[in-house]
Amino acid sequence: MSVPAVEIHDMTVAYQRRPVLWDIDLQVPEGKLVGIVGPNGAGKTTLIKAALGLTPLASGKVEIYGKPYNEQRHLVGYVPQRESVDWDFPVSVRDVVLMGTYGKLGWFRRPGKSERETADRCLEQVGMLPLAKRQIRQLSGGQQQRVFLARALAEDAQVYFLDEPFAGVDAATESAIVELMQTLRSDGKTVFVVHHDLQTVRDYFDHVILLNMRLIACGPVETTFTNDNLQKTYGGRLTILDEAAEAMRQGDSIR
Ligand code: ADP
Repeated sequence: MSVPAVEIHDMTVAYQRRPVLWDIDLQVPEGKLVGIVGPNGAGKTTLIKAALGLTPLASGKVEIYGKPYNEQRHLVGYVPQRESVDWDFPVSVRDVVLMGTYGKLGWFRRPGKSERETADRCLEQVGMLPLAKRQIRQLSGGQQQRVFLARALAEDAQVYFLDEPFAGVDAATESAIVELMQTLRSDGKTVFVVHHDLQTVRDYFDHVILLNMRLIACGPVETTFTNDNLQKTYGGRLTILDEAAEAMRQGDSIR
């Protein structure tokens, strides 16, 4: 069996000694689109940040393709939640995307023609090439979100973590992003996405991680995205997906 793209063993994360995630053990094979779902405050962003080494682990370890994260950083791309980044300074859209190529450049090398071509190709993929020269701060929230995706694409990673990439985007952009994620998947990449739309997760994703401070379940959507697990994750507050709630009333699985 091939080595999992991402493995998390016995992970516990605490802020000021207050545990917010514990007993996280999971494995995800490569080439999967993985939804991370759970109520607000469930620890979804914390899980991503901990996996990326941005938040220290109280215990446990993270492996990317069988090796510690520290040795595999170059294989990982990240798009943080939009609100968490302040882009109110003068930098062009193309320059933001060029930043994605820095990791491969090494010290003291400046991006050249090939990096600019990569940046433009990635902007093209998200439909933002016509705005390459604009200042990032002049763009709408949804447009910025697409530029950040382009920057992650420029990193040419194997594993992507996208924290709510659909926040504030219109329906057309949402389907463009889903299409892009599917392209990444067919290239063998593994894409983790924090997402609140359970219907999209059910219809388009392969794997799901259900989280509520502890891991409720992780596995293929068909077997894991069940009423029982949704109940455990959201408790009585499962109003997010009408169809799911309806299916639950009828005692069916939502899939
Ligand atoms: P989610 O992404 O599922 O909404 P988060 O991972 O953002 O949840 O937060 C999980 C919990 O950790 C929440 O109770 C939140 O208040 C807390 N938390 C998140 N970041 C910090 C931080 N930097 N310091 C202290 N507590 C935090």
